Amino acid sequence: MTLSTLSQELHVARSKRYALAGLVILGWEDAKYYVKAAEEINCPIILQVGPNCRENTPIEIMGPMLKKLAEDASINIVTLLDHSTNLKECERALDNGFSSIMFDGSNMELNENIDLTCKAVELAKNYGASVEAELGVVGYDQGIKSKFTEPKLAQKFYAATQVDALAISVGNTHLEQEKATEVDTKLVSQIEKFVKCPLVIHGGSGIKTTQLHWLAKNTAICKINIGTQLRQVFGENLREYLLNNPTIFDRIEILSHVYEKIIPTTKKIILNLRPDK
Ligand SMILES: [Zn+2]
Repeated sequence: MTLSTLSQELHVARSKRYALAGLVILGWEDAKYYVKAAEEINCPIILQVGPNCRENTPIEIMGPMLKKLAEDASINIVTLLDHSTNLKECERALDNGFSSIMFDGSNMELNENIDLTCKAVELAKNYGASVEAELGVVGYDQGIKSKFTEPKLAQKFYAATQVDALAISVGNTHLEQEKATEVDTKLVSQIEKFVKCPLVIHGGSGIKTTQLHWLAKNTAICKINIGTQLRQVFGENLREYLLNNPTIFDRIEILSHVYEKIIPTTKKIILNLRPDK
């Protein structure tokens, strides 16, 4: 039984000065192989189910599937409903075994974000689950623009909600395909003076590898989300495998070969955030 909560894992990470990878998953195979990669280096991970994933596969399927994977694993695994703006959906996730939820009120007015995040925290308490929230807006490459997190508002937000983790906007952007971004470290240190919970960076794929390592070691950032980078590696390996094996057609056979190739990258991503290892 190794299903763990965000709060449990991020507190260990903070005291030992490292960050966990929040790996975005789309189904059984990527979840299974990310767990395998993490087991090989004996590091906990977070498996995150975002809006695209749950549009494709219902929460009622994803929740028990990830719970089973966590229970059979040799490492601690956090299962997180990512970017939910809907309390009913959060409740469905908790009913279906998710250990943690991210309530995303970042596009709402401050007071509405505070009010609904407080409701998410109350709800999660009934399940012993954790809550991540977002203040400021982490934008999307080619999509909505970012709005940086203001430290004073973050202080007010955290005091009112007492969330377990806070996602911040400090130059990070979702869906970036190049690892070229550097976040504003001065802003990170201002925010961490006012907010006493672990901080989270979404859009980790677009941030320079060396800076991710530095942030994990030197700041209160204890969770860094990675989605795009691993999807890119999946696409590259899938194309290569199909071109080199034109007669193979079995789904399980194809995906097992492709995901075995992704394990080394997954391990590198996790270990880059582990200066202690
Ligand atoms: Zn995100």
